[in-house]
Amino acid sequence: MKALVYHGMKDVRVDTVDDPKIEDARDAIIRVTSTAICGSDLHIYNGSIPQPRPMVLGHEFMGIVEEVGKGVGGKLKVGDRVVVPFPIACGTCYFCNHQLPGHCENSNPEHYGPEGGLMTEKGGALFGYTDIYGGYNGGQAEYVRVPYADFGPRVIPDSLTDEQALFLTDIFPTGYSGIEWGEVKGGEIVAIFGAGPVGVMAAKSAWLRGAARVIIIDTLQYRLDKAKASTYSETIRWEDAKSTVEQIRDMSGGRGADVCVECVGFEPDRDLLDRAKAVLNFEKGSPKVLEACMSAVRRGGIVSVLGVYSSPFDNFPIHQFFDKGITIRGGQAPAQKHIDKLLQYVIEGKVVLDDIITHRMPLAEAAHGYDIFRNKKDNCVKVVLKP
Ligand code: NAD
Ligand code: ZN
Ligand code: ZN
Repeated sequence: MKALVYHGMKDVRVDTVDDPKIEDARDAIIRVTSTAICGSDLHIYNGSIPQPRPMVLGHEFMGIVEEVGKGVGGKLKVGDRVVVPFPIACGTCYFCNHQLPGHCENSNPEHYGPEGGLMTEKGGALFGYTDIYGGYNGGQAEYVRVPYADFGPRVIPDSLTDEQALFLTDIFPTGYSGIEWGEVKGGEIVAIFGAGPVGVMAAKSAWLRGAARVIIIDTLQYRLDKAKASTYSETIRWEDAKSTVEQIRDMSGGRGADVCVECVGFEPDRDLLDRAKAVLNFEKGSPKVLEACMSAVRRGGIVSVLGVYSSPFDNFPIHQFFDKGITIRGGQAPAQKHIDKLLQYVIEGKVVLDDIITHRMPLAEAAHGYDIFRNKKDNCVKVVLKP
């Protein structure tokens, strides 16, 4: 089959690889009909999450069930059209039983940590997301093996198109998790850093949960314009951390936002340069956007970190955390926890997800898709590949 294979930093290619096979009784093979490129894929592409061997990428996908293992039972049958949540989770371990599928201990029993020691607790697997996250091939491919297929995949009604349902795999439950972690119940001021697909889904989720004001921040005007058009949120163009924080304080009676949601993550071009500058000045660098979230949130407020951070930064603003009594939550989002409710919202028309798609292309053009999404070319917000 054809699949998008990671070969090295900024080197992804559509290759011919072996077809996936049922390896366990609880597996299913899915014929992928739609799959998206995610900001999380860019951390691998950029080289900030290392991957030592070629791997099929992609954790946002849906398709038709082609084959099921004997252990899948009646949960899934050949021909079903399904969306697959991005964490690979068994559904029965301690973490799965605690609504933490992104930390499932059976899906990644030999958690491979590049640093040894501190990062080697077992647990946490994702499709197509490096050997650290279990070494599973992903869904930017014609076919994909889905483990624990009786737990993850959700059947999608015919009334929804692929594009209406695809983002239930990751970015909608992820954006929603950031807002749920922020304990948004109604009436809050929510500041969302990053107007990419995740930030936009967080904004849609904030409105769904009754936020009073939603403010989206980005460095790129075209992303802000798109985010405003699809979420009716207010926007701030990031020039620097200080002016952004000041504007958020001005918009919130001087107090700061009730909740800040970090939807940017580690960016090598920005964060490594900052760290290099800081080292030259004999200081320690800290990730800028996270620091701005800690400054822009009110006393007693919550910072949700959806953006991926894959390496330590020493100058974490622990003084702000302590002085302001901030709650900080983050991690790979528990997509399985929210997906059924969110699917209902989509079916009922309470939320529209596909308005963020700017580019559709055949799988064969996936490398081009990575280039325009990574480099923010051609007003790209979200690329959907059609294998
Ligand atoms: P993206 O690259 O399209 O979006 C990131 C946005 O941040 C861009 O629009 C960029 O211009 C903006 N940005 C850069 N510097 C900024 C700054 N200083 N201030 C404000 N905005 C700034 O990626 P995405 O698909 O939206 O994903 C966003 C993040 O969420 C990534 O780190 C991704 O890995 C992560 N993610 C996490 C989960 C999870 O489960 N926690 C799931 C999906 C994605
Ligand atoms: Zn994703
Ligand atoms: Zn589990």
